[in-house]
Amino acid sequence: MHSAEIERWLAESDAAALAGLYREADNVRRLRVGDQVHLRGLIEISNVCARACAYCGLRAANAKLTRYKMPAPEIVECAHAAFALGYGTVVLQAGESRTIAADWMADIVRQIKSETPLAVTLSLGERSLEELGLWRKAGADRYLLRFETSDADLFRRIHPPLPGGFSDRIALLAGLRDKGYEVGSGVMTGIPGQTYASLARDIELFRDLDLDMIGVGPYLPHPDTPLGREFSGGGPRLGRQVPSTEEMVYKTIALTRLLCPRANIPSTTALATINTRNGRELGLMRGANVVMPNLTPARYRRHYEIYPNKACIAETPADCSGCLRGRIAAIGRVPGVGPGNRQRETAHV
Ligand code: SAH
Repeated sequence: MHSAEIERWLAESDAAALAGLYREADNVRRLRVGDQVHLRGLIEISNVCARACAYCGLRAANAKLTRYKMPAPEIVECAHAAFALGYGTVVLQAGESRTIAADWMADIVRQIKSETPLAVTLSLGERSLEELGLWRKAGADRYLLRFETSDADLFRRIHPPLPGGFSDRIALLAGLRDKGYEVGSGVMTGIPGQTYASLARDIELFRDLDLDMIGVGPYLPHPDTPLGREFSGGGPRLGRQVPSTEEMVYKTIALTRLLCPRANIPSTTALATINTRNGRELGLMRGANVVMPNLTPARYRRHYEIYPNKACIAETPADCSGCLRGRIAAIGRVPGVGPGNRQRETAHV
């Protein structure tokens, strides 16, 4: 599929045409990655952040947020809980900060890898190749780093570098691949200033980078961020502005599945936040094959506010597991068993 065709699909509004797109994406999903829905237990280990991302509530300048960093033993305890709940992977995510010291993190990864059979995914922002190498040696299997948008100007506007630094997430993704990580990336849909053409290029870039995991969620305005304030003021209403709608997420997920047939694609919490009733299920029925149940203890979780009104904020890890398993069964799918690595061979065809 060429960019013009992707762009045309992104702008499509005919319900019957879209139903056809979703059917095709669901078919490719079933043929290429099967009916298993992999469960990745998410542990939000810290909300301390040094960056100034215009979209994110964790940004350093947000003084309203109570900051936390989970002690190492509690993180390891959450990983054991993940195993007990039958998950194959834990994802350790945080704001980007030197307070996540490289050695401290490496010790935690080593401990989880030696005490459990879990795959370990890290999502800790932009760190040096040396640090990423250290964590890989400690046993980390995967790394998630969304490039957020392939439009370089828009990226610079919403994701300023650290003072004196630079930010090149695409280069870091290549570095992660070199180190032997499974590599995940993704974007937000509906960022103010995002055009259909640039979102079409994002999807092509997923394919060109041969990503193992691709996360797509709606941009959700946070009132304590510059972009959130701009959004509530009406935002830039250009003709080609991608709206931050549920439908746009489904279209993006479906097109991503068609271009990247074997990638692991989550039905994200941000999607479940704009449609709490069945957003998660619709994502899974339109190309996604992964969900990320939350394992973060409630007293920390409520402070990991990247956007407001996050879905499932009050659930315990056990509730979250039960709820997601119920939703998976209700749409005729089965929970994944084992780590759920990206399959490169033609195992399911
Ligand atoms: N510090 C890490 C993890 C960030 S949170 C990093 O920068 O990679 C994970 C993802 O949440 C981000 O990559 C971004 O795509 C998404 N996110 C952040 N703020 C958001 C918002 N306001 N609405 C929707 N998604 C958001």
